[in-house]
Amino acid sequence: MKVVAILPAAGLGTRMAPMPSAMDAKTKKPHPSKQFTDLGGTPILIHTLRKFAAAEAVSEIWIALRENEIEGFRERLRKEAKGLIGKKVELVAGGEHRQQSVQNALNAITAAPGDIVLVHDAVRPLVTVEIIQEVVAAAKKYGAAIAGLPAVDTVKQVERTAEGAIVRATIPRAGVVLAQTPQGFHYSVIKKAFDEAAADGFMGTDEASLAERSGHEVAVVMGSPRNIKITTPSDMDLAEFYLRK
Ligand code: C5P
Repeated sequence: MKVVAILPAAGLGTRMAPMPSAMDAKTKKPHPSKQFTDLGGTPILIHTLRKFAAAEAVSEIWIALRENEIEGFRERLRKEAKGLIGKKVELVAGGEHRQQSVQNALNAITAAPGDIVLVHDAVRPLVTVEIIQEVVAAAKKYGAAIAGLPAVDTVKQVERTAEGAIVRATIPRAGVVLAQTPQGFHYSVIKKAFDEAAADGFMGTDEASLAERSGHEVAVVMGSPRNIKITTPSDMDLAEFYLRK
């Protein structure tokens, strides 16, 4: 049984820099897309890649990139040989949406039904090797598993109106988990879930939602409040802080 990790890294990251083609005032170069932004002197994606390379169970890492970023990243990977500990790393072109990027990587891999496929946002560089290993173990046991975080705030269901949001209900937070990545699946489970979603034109914001609608139970292992998804510039400040610690 092998474990294949897929890192979708083909987003534009428009919430980080409103116009990725615009020039960065400091470097005088075009703004890098979010996954290539420097975090403590190293691109976010490289931090993430090193974590998966360091996870003993993971044997292959497939990265979905924007087409025009593939060659540059291949160059960067040559400098990274030591950090990859002999792991096979492959690059594929991503798609317009995250789900399409994951789909493209899924189409490219070869796996047996019982192999494990992990999917992890490239922009969550502070994931730990322990969390990766726990998701792998739970995915092996249950067929589908995610890292998740219990909600600490009270959760409200709202209706969006022209005036703003209006609370319609309070959802008991004991029954709420905030989904993180990695999310892991038997290859047969994720393949079926993606095939069904494609046939129905369903778009989810994570892989687990596809497995759920395909009728598969999804287990949750404890994520971490530090496993943040870097989305806005203020997330960078927090990530720099966690990295220094
Ligand atoms: O869009 P969001 O911030 O949720 O992105 C989560 C991850 O999905 C990021 O690592 C991003 O690069 C990736 N993504 C992708 N292809 C897209 C959009 C997002 O691989 N078309």
